[in-house]
Amino acid sequence: MGLRRNQLLSRRHFCLCCMSGAAFAATGGWLTPRQAFAEARGLVTLIKDSAASSPVTAHKLRGNVSVLEGSGGNIAVLTGPDGKLLVDGGIGVSRPQLTKALSGLGPESVTHLINTHWHFDHSDGNEWLHSVGAKIIAHENTRKHLSEIQRVEDWDYNFLPSPAGAIPSEILSANRSLKLNGTSIEMKPYKPAHTDGDLSVTFGEADILHVGDTYWNGIYPFIDYSTGGSIDGMIIASDSNLAAATDNTIIIPGHGKPVSNKSELKAFRDMLVDIRDKVAALKKAGRTLEETVAAKPTAAHDAKWGQFVIDPPFFTKLVYEGV
Ligand SMILES: [Zn+2]
Repeated sequence: MGLRRNQLLSRRHFCLCCMSGAAFAATGGWLTPRQAFAEARGLVTLIKDSAASSPVTAHKLRGNVSVLEGSGGNIAVLTGPDGKLLVDGGIGVSRPQLTKALSGLGPESVTHLINTHWHFDHSDGNEWLHSVGAKIIAHENTRKHLSEIQRVEDWDYNFLPSPAGAIPSEILSANRSLKLNGTSIEMKPYKPAHTDGDLSVTFGEADILHVGDTYWNGIYPFIDYSTGGSIDGMIIASDSNLAAATDNTIIIPGHGKPVSNKSELKAFRDMLVDIRDKVAALKKAGRTLEETVAAKPTAAHDAKWGQFVIDPPFFTKLVYEGV
């Protein structure tokens, strides 16, 4: 993939969610399953290698909450005398950079880790974080996906079960709250959206909302149909995120610029709705996937949202799959 791969490597936010888009972009079209598999395997290695050498940057948000970027999805950190709580665990090979960034936020050890969903770029750090004392909390479907061989059709890739220490030990299927470091933490499962195991985490006093991969700030999102995701589910989750936020709420997206707000989230939601409607109309008129991609239903949004690895053709395919 030559130049394109080098361009990808120069970017800071690698994630498994982006692999298929990258492979798609690299070939300028559809991959055979064998090609996609080879590309995906290569990119898993690339993502890990890149994470191993990428810096992890901390942004202080409000109260005792920060966000770390540079190891897979954006990681929220709550600090205080009761121990640190992390929302998502990043990629395992970033352990040295994450450890350094975490100690820069305070001396306490990590006692809690919440996974927003099962994807590798949010849960690959589970094992080492558990080994240093973190109790792992997640949606019941996240535990299921981490416990079993998991096939993601759009990556043509099979993930092996996670090691025992990486499996969440506390499971939720309904809203749950937790009090830690004087902070009210609220965990809320979504209906199937990006996957069937997504959950949001709210830090009440600081008015901060981590929405996992139901929101990608400034970039087209990946949608994992293999584990229950859909375009309509993404739109419903966006509406519930908007309802949960005020103009003062700091919103942490799963990917993209890590500090966001309600008006940016609204733009993401409106983009999803517009593209869903355009793709649905084309599909209803009998257009094939190739014809729908050729009709460029995302064109009005590409300059703003299509500059990352889920490129316009690949995002069109993801929407077409669900309408
Ligand atoms: Zn994801």
